[in-house]
Amino acid sequence: QEKDYQMMLRTRNPGGFIPPELYLTLDRLSDEYGNHTLRVTTRQGFQVHGILKKNLKATVSAIVRNMGSTLGACGDLNRNVMAPPAPYKNRADYQYAWEYADRIADLLRPQTGAYYEIWLDGEKAISGEEAPEVKAARQRNGTGTIFHDAEEPIYGQHYMPRKFKCSVTVPGDNSIDLYTQDVTLVVMTDAQGELEGFNVLVGGGMGRTHNKEETFARIADELGYVEKGDVYELMKAIVATQRDYGDRANRRHARMKYLIHDWGIEKFRAKVEDYFGKSLSPYKSLPAWKYEDYLGWNEQGDGKLFLGLSIENGRVKDEGDFRLKTALKAIVEQFQLPMRLTANHNLIFYDIDPKSKATIQGLLDENGVATNPDAIAPLTRYAMACPALPTCGLAITESERVIPGIIDRIQALLDKLGMGDEKFVIRMTGCPNGCARPYMAELGFVGSAVESYQIWLGGTPHQTTLARPYVQRLPIADLETFLEPLFVYFDREKKSGESFGEFCNRVGFDALREFSGNYQIG
Ligand code: SF4
Repeated sequence: QEKDYQMMLRTRNPGGFIPPELYLTLDRLSDEYGNHTLRVTTRQGFQVHGILKKNLKATVSAIVRNMGSTLGACGDLNRNVMAPPAPYKNRADYQYAWEYADRIADLLRPQTGAYYEIWLDGEKAISGEEAPEVKAARQRNGTGTIFHDAEEPIYGQHYMPRKFKCSVTVPGDNSIDLYTQDVTLVVMTDAQGELEGFNVLVGGGMGRTHNKEETFARIADELGYVEKGDVYELMKAIVATQRDYGDRANRRHARMKYLIHDWGIEKFRAKVEDYFGKSLSPYKSLPAWKYEDYLGWNEQGDGKLFLGLSIENGRVKDEGDFRLKTALKAIVEQFQLPMRLTANHNLIFYDIDPKSKATIQGLLDENGVATNPDAIAPLTRYAMACPALPTCGLAITESERVIPGIIDRIQALLDKLGMGDEKFVIRMTGCPNGCARPYMAELGFVGSAVESYQIWLGGTPHQTTLARPYVQRLPIADLETFLEPLFVYFDREKKSGESFGEFCNRVGFDALREFSGNYQIG
């Protein structure tokens, strides 16, 4: 008899768009075939855990028939394309970011019919994962024909050497961790808000392996600027460069970041320009990047409202008096609202008629779901953890299940030191793969041995700096002993407005170690 293999299934939702019918389907499937929870991922999709192999086909086909897809959410190809989740209808640049997230997802979608053959018995269901505003923009701007001839004109026979991650954002908005992507496009508009082109960054990536020096986290470099009419050709040229020159012999060295590291950005740019057939323009100057989480009730610029809900660890569940899953289902059923998932595993309902606000608020209140972002403890609000144990086969340590307790311990320590109002970005993963992007955190935990974590310091509040490993293996029982001197030093020596991560970078790791060594914990 075949074993009861359990699967994790991940959806493909460019820009985090989840239409109401898809949400209700996922909610139902998580109860029928999954573990009764949904997990918002750090790439703006949903994961359903615990699906038995025998139920996989029923699950995937239900998703595809209800405006969803799982195509390309895993594998050696372009993954879910990210975009800021803010539904600002009066901001053309945000609308372009959504539109181009969809367009890039389409451009890099595998053309094979195998997906539909396997999951839908060959029926060519066209999944409708396109948001209405994106569809309207397509009709306005024309769809264009991206694919012409061969079955896989971009990927060829062998697909990519490794996974490939893209995002599209607008100047100043780093809600999507733009430096961690293989490719990020930054929408550039003119004074009237008309799209002109894109700044392009390449070569970010988080995944690494403990004790393998040749693997490392890397942040993206500036590649250049491209006019809007050339953006697909440029994307194809970048993909082709990685497809043809990325390392296919060693999977640990196969991401595009290693190609760019080994070659340098100049050589990489020259090769991309060969495929592209022309030179790239210089990268245009941009304002500083800011991390935004868009929580709480907000105006979306067209008379309607949006509501950003913080989801601890991205886990949509019912537990005791906290019934988030029940509340979300009731809201979607009653109001048919679309949602956008965020890169910090939260979600945003949008297109809300102001007349519905009180009812929606009431549904959330009666199910114990907080909506006031200022009521969320800041350490929790900005934290992320990957699922790790028990659902991820690569996990070395716990992550999602222990981070609430670890944050409580850190908060208690800060309170004891009279630093209770401090806030900084904490991220945790159960292995060095880095799904919750711990290498951009001000305090990063990366599972390295039983109940022990590698500690990363030096990320910054808006995720613009790469952290560095500070301690290889911290038994989590020693957390307070380890952190206390660092916090005391920070409190004594920080400059006005300086964050913990910025402080660690300014004074340097040697000074942190020296102070910690001399500090008597009392
Ligand atoms: Fe990702 Fe590793 Fe966490 Fe698994 S344990 S979810 S692979 S970071």
